[in-house]
Amino acid sequence: MIRQLSIRRPDDWHVHLREGEMLRAVLPAHATVYGRFVAMPNLSIPVTTRALARAYRAGIFVAMPDGVRAEPLIPCYLTEDTSVEELIAGHQAGDFFGAKFYPVGATTLSRAGVRDIRRLYPLFEVMQKHGVPLLMHGEVVDDDVDFYDRERVFVETSLSDLVRHFPELTMTMEHLTTKEAVDFVADHQHCSRLAGSITLHHLLLTCSDMLNNGLRADYFCYPLVKTASDRAAVRGAATSGRACYFLGTDSAPHLKSQKYCATAKAGIFTAPVSLPGYAAVFEAEGALENLEGFASIYGAEHYGLPVHEDQITLKKTPVQNLPSELSVDADAVRVFSTPTEWHIV
Ligand SMILES: [Zn+2]
Repeated sequence: MIRQLSIRRPDDWHVHLREGEMLRAVLPAHATVYGRFVAMPNLSIPVTTRALARAYRAGIFVAMPDGVRAEPLIPCYLTEDTSVEELIAGHQAGDFFGAKFYPVGATTLSRAGVRDIRRLYPLFEVMQKHGVPLLMHGEVVDDDVDFYDRERVFVETSLSDLVRHFPELTMTMEHLTTKEAVDFVADHQHCSRLAGSITLHHLLLTCSDMLNNGLRADYFCYPLVKTASDRAAVRGAATSGRACYFLGTDSAPHLKSQKYCATAKAGIFTAPVSLPGYAAVFEAEGALENLEGFASIYGAEHYGLPVHEDQITLKKTPVQNLPSELSVDADAVRVFSTPTEWHIV
């Protein structure tokens, strides 16, 4: 049995670090593990301009623990008014990593998002030409679409249209949750530059976990966790060794006061347990040898970036020393609890 494992330093291609005290509290758990991380731009003021991206990046570096080297990557938050010139110039200057599509109302702080993705097609045309990646919260938000069908309907309608129109655009369908979405990504490798990221919690949870024995706010996130057969498909995809799937935690902290109340916020804070948690899933699926590709190689390749030369070592030990929560001002954020014997050494 493998008890120790060294892999190239991993990257997290989707994480929420928030701002202010929350950023300072959650950043170390991330930056000490992941060499690069895509810090989502859905802040209280969405990161829609180069100046905002630069300010956020600078704020992350101020909060970085001493001696830790990690690179935050900030996507531009797309709105229906996004300036093509600002986006392209910002990407070329390194202010923007890519561009993030949020449908209006899909998740935390997505009010400024996009109503109709087709309105962005002229922008996507230019992004394709200049090699700017498109990161997607792939759900259709519509009163006529059931919550559980949001991703499936996006795949059937928007995503199938996008791959037809933009075969050369680097696209990431983030946080895959359904069999239809993982199959679509695999089935379109020959004709598109589409890949998908996968969270730890969608590898572990189903809606039954969220709804059994009382409503579990800890397991509530967008996109919602789905059925057992969806979870099996997502686990199969993540651990398959196929380069079209890679790590994106979507770790999303909320204060306890806003999580354990009548209107619980959506989002699961997995950062401190994420890599050990992924290792446990890959081990359970008999695919530990595929962890490095998923965590450290395929995402970088998708975005045309070099992989890291340094390594990180995971060791199996029954000692549990992971924090159950982190203090934030007078409040706290609870860490997702998952059984894993893997620890980063
Ligand atoms: Zn997210």
